[in-house]
Amino acid sequence: MKVKNINGTSQNICSCNSWLQHWRNFSRQTTVACRALGCFRTDIVGTQVQKDIEYDNEWYIVPFCKSHHNATGPVELVAGTKLVSVNKKMKNEKITSQ
Ligand SMILES: [Zn+2]
Ligand SMILES: [Zn+2]
Repeated sequence: MKVKNINGTSQNICSCNSWLQHWRNFSRQTTVACRALGCFRTDIVGTQVQKDIEYDNEWYIVPFCKSHHNATGPVELVAGTKLVSVNKKMKNEKITSQ
């Protein structure tokens, strides 16, 4: 699966505190390393991406290192990495704009 950086930051702030935590909450996966294939850096942040396909415009979060966080062009993910929609909410979670 290839994804591309959106290079934009959604103003939506959910109560997960960070996009990385948002990814952990919904993917039920944990990682200490960047999910770009072949990258083992651990300075990860939740990064907003889109799938590199025409028919899916949804915004997703994946954990990328600071380098891949600013990557331009498609990035291949480690197999099995879950993409978590930025619009997902916990049952009792409120999306607030701040
Ligand atoms: Zn959240
Ligand atoms: Zn990386």
